[in-house]
Amino acid sequence: MTDAQALVKTLDFQLDIQSDNESLLYDATLEARSAYNETIRLAKQGVDWDAIPDRVADDANLVKNTTQRVVAKALGAMENYYEYDDFGQPSHSKDGAYPLRANYEEGYNLSLTDDGDVAFRISAKPYKHVKGVLEGDDAHLDVLKTALESDEWKIGTAEALFHNDNPELHVNVTNTKQTVRDKQDSRTVVGVDVNEDNVALTALSEDGIEDSLVIDFPEIKFERHRYFTMRKRVQNAGKQSMHDTLEGREERFVRDRLHKVSRHIVEWSQRFEKPCIVFEDLKEMRDSIDYGTRMNRRLHHLPFRALQFYTSYKASFEGIPTGWIDPYKTSQRCPLCGHAERANRNKKRFKCRSCGHQDHSDRVASVNIAVKGIKKHQDWNVPTLNSLPQVRKVRRQASGAVDAPTVTHDAVRGYQTDGIVGVSD
Ligand SMILES: [Zn+2]
Repeated sequence: MTDAQALVKTLDFQLDIQSDNESLLYDATLEARSAYNETIRLAKQGVDWDAIPDRVADDANLVKNTTQRVVAKALGAMENYYEYDDFGQPSHSKDGAYPLRANYEEGYNLSLTDDGDVAFRISAKPYKHVKGVLEGDDAHLDVLKTALESDEWKIGTAEALFHNDNPELHVNVTNTKQTVRDKQDSRTVVGVDVNEDNVALTALSEDGIEDSLVIDFPEIKFERHRYFTMRKRVQNAGKQSMHDTLEGREERFVRDRLHKVSRHIVEWSQRFEKPCIVFEDLKEMRDSIDYGTRMNRRLHHLPFRALQFYTSYKASFEGIPTGWIDPYKTSQRCPLCGHAERANRNKKRFKCRSCGHQDHSDRVASVNIAVKGIKKHQDWNVPTLNSLPQVRKVRRQASGAVDAPTVTHDAVRGYQTDGIVGVSD
């Protein structure tokens, strides 16, 4: 096993299609689906895998290179099935769109425009292109623009797909100079719990909890609410352009704050030996409806995803790996005795119904995230937790500077109740 991995990012964009043929792209994703199904069907029939790509390519009305990518993905799924059969045999009878996979400069192309946008051209069908510009998060666009201009980056395969009926392009880019430490090779796991108005961090090593920190950013929630009210007012007055201006201003404000907070998380993590930053994985939640209102509320608030992305992106430039865990019960489980119950948590206060442990509830979640991160990615054991150090809280001010901590005691290992000083509901 290597102890470093290439820095690879998948960048997600929405497609602003300007060639007036969105349906062509959709047709192509349906064609990709039938190429996928055909591959699986042939493989199940026992056709020699080496013969499958040509057989499928002859039938598919797709660019050859795209067909090859789809066939490769389907055969990959079959191979996984044979190696780890607990995934179940891949189906060859699903319908609906299938991501159109393409190699850079073969199935799709990107270029910088004079306006500073990124133009795309996707060869949906032979000699038929879909064109327009990419839209999306600044962090993703920034990486892509850098990649387009720098030799340090390689642009790889992309997938064009429909997400909630909207066309998207997911582009893989690799930094050829930088590497990220393998996550298995970490000595500290930093659990990050992201909320509307704060992030809670806990650094956990084999020796126990190294430190916990809560970074408050109430101004993000406050400003978003203020902009929301203003936008409603101008919208009701029929001033759409004013509405859009406000929206842009709000987005820039929030983004700027999130960049600062994510930088803070990475800097804090760097204090510890070989850190790995761990988040809750939103994808894991689709299959469960049992996450309750707290999770739903968080999901509907923008900072969640963006902050995770900014943080993992900045961390990877420092060589720090990122891990993802299933968020199930991370906010309800007592870090000392393991008892999990919804009633353990009341807004920002945590009180275990079994052992009586009291704590800041977001810090508790960050401990649980770190614990799961160790179990999932590390070969060392989760330490036994008998007591937790005090939680320090810092607040980000409008200037962006970090205020002095509101609780200044160093990480005292001892009785906990003081740890929630200064925490308000
Ligand atoms: Zn307990």
